[in-house]
Amino acid sequence: MSFCPECSAEYTSDVLICADCQVELEPERLPEDTVEYIDWEVIQEIPNEFVGNLIKGVLEGEGIDAVVHPHEISALGGIRLESEWGELLVQSDQVQDAKSIIEDHLASLPDDALENSDADPEAT
Ligand SMILES: [Zn+2]
Repeated sequence: MSFCPECSAEYTSDVLICADCQVELEPERLPEDTVEYIDWEVIQEIPNEFVGNLIKGVLEGEGIDAVVHPHEISALGGIRLESEWGELLVQSDQVQDAKSIIEDHLASLPDDALENSDADPEAT
């Protein structure tokens, strides 16, 4: 199956152009919950949600898609280790770019920004 990036109409794989939009079809998009980590690589462990979203925002500002992936809470019996809140993933072909952007960005953060064990990620 292929689908149209404009109108999301589905076509059989032998159709190349959307009849409605005249745009090139793309391969079928996988369902949201199975697509995620196939071509994605973990590039950064993140200590809390705030830092994860911060780095994600920086990467997206540079045109790199990033995913913040919290570790499964259940695996830890409901206890979330603060030093291992989750991880940040980018697509495989953007790993190098993302890493250098993060390095540049982290260099500009205060030293304790990534090791603030007093931070409560649930606090709003
Ligand atoms: Zn279309």
